[in-house]
Amino acid sequence: MLLEIRDIHVHYGKIEALKGISLDVDEGEIVTLIGANGAGKTTTLKTISGLRPLTSGSIAFDGKDISRLPGHKRVLVGIGQSPEGRGCFPGMTVMENLLMGAYTRSGDFSKDLAEVFDLFPRLAERKTQAAGTMSGGEQQMVAIGRALMSKPKVLLLDEPSMGLAPMLVAQIFSIIKEINNRGTTVLLVEQNAQQALQIAHRAYVLETGKVVKAAPAADLLDDPQVREAYLGGS
Ligand code: ATP
Repeated sequence: MLLEIRDIHVHYGKIEALKGISLDVDEGEIVTLIGANGAGKTTTLKTISGLRPLTSGSIAFDGKDISRLPGHKRVLVGIGQSPEGRGCFPGMTVMENLLMGAYTRSGDFSKDLAEVFDLFPRLAERKTQAAGTMSGGEQQMVAIGRALMSKPKVLLLDEPSMGLAPMLVAQIFSIIKEINNRGTTVLLVEQNAQQALQIAHRAYVLETGKVVKAAPAADLLDDPQVREAYLGGS
């Protein structure tokens, strides 16, 4: 397993946001976490990337326990995150944002930049534009491109389709699939469960800080309870 999460508990003050979550992500997979608002999806990603401390439980990555490793060191071992709400550096150009993603690395990034521009031709056209003046969908592309510049083994994506027009939503999901086809493992948090389940290999359903279902994504698309709760019941 690339990522092994065992019985993690996470608190915000007295509130227990994660109440013993266990999940696995294998190399080459797209795994998605779905669930209602407040279920703990974002907290799970933040805990994996080291932005929230564990109260108890463990996280192993590539066979090593990273439970106590600070966030900036988790980037070095291969965990890349594109945060919710995009989180671009608005005053910096698109190019500067992308290069920030590679700040932990040394050497020549031209091949990696070419790969990001191949996935997102719009970013190549707008290299010198301030990221803060890009559209919502374009900023999402900057955030994902920046995360890819750290050459992650696993890419954590938090709500990449949030706030996007339907056409752009389809595009973002197909790009995530392409990123995975090119060899990057993906852990995807999404409100848009239908589309997430269509591109994912496996999925976990979270409810109030617990995993209530774990199954191949295709099975959840057919699961009556999941359809009722997360796929609009149809
Ligand atoms: P959403 O889909 O709405 O983003 P989520 O599944 O990602 O939801 P989290 O953001 O992980 O859920 O939140 C899990 C729980 O932790 C919620 O009850 C939330 O109110 C609480 N929580 C999250 N962030 C904080 C915070 N900074 N301070 C206090 N409580 C928080």
